[in-house]
Amino acid sequence: MYKAQASNCCEDGQMTINLASLTPDRVVASIHELTPALLLAEGIQAIITDLDNTLVPWRSYDIPPRLTDWLRGLEAAGIRICIASNTHFPKRLHAVANTLSLPYVADVKKPEIEGLQRCMAVMGSNVSNTAMFGDQLFTDILAGNRLGVRTILLRPGLSNYEFITTKMMRNVETLVIWRQKQLGQWPQMDGPQLRSPQIATAVPHED
Ligand SMILES: [Mg+2]
Repeated sequence: MYKAQASNCCEDGQMTINLASLTPDRVVASIHELTPALLLAEGIQAIITDLDNTLVPWRSYDIPPRLTDWLRGLEAAGIRICIASNTHFPKRLHAVANTLSLPYVADVKKPEIEGLQRCMAVMGSNVSNTAMFGDQLFTDILAGNRLGVRTILLRPGLSNYEFITTKMMRNVETLVIWRQKQLGQWPQMDGPQLRSPQIATAVPHED
């Protein structure tokens, strides 16, 4: 139960983005929608997760009260988790990951996929049983689709505080989502998987 791996490159070495490569397989409004039963039913045994505005608010050391319960529930079900973050603050990433007892890969430069592959190696997972989870289309979802894993978007993210370039990209995200909804290609909040991504590209990475 997995999708075809997205193409990373074209003949001339230039990468392109299409709407499918920016479209998640699932959209959730809360991590708590991702129950162990749901994930296992979809064959997901490992999650690569973003950090900022996905697990914790941007630049925060605070652990949301229900986050640890959610993580322990996944752990009890045998679902592995690894943080893949673009953050430029590795000390905070290290501290939060340690508090949560989670492995992590720092400075992954999503949508590049090497950091995600390192997470899969840490978890002993593969593209068929792994999902990428995050709050941004142009980093988290694009990277996951390029890698060929299932992609889950948290929308909205945990807070409105974001890096300035992230705020700018939110406007582009809105256009992508609007167009995909017009085309009937945007997943329902609890909808089925939709498609296999075609082509993806590198864009400037951000926190
Ligand atoms: Mg994020």
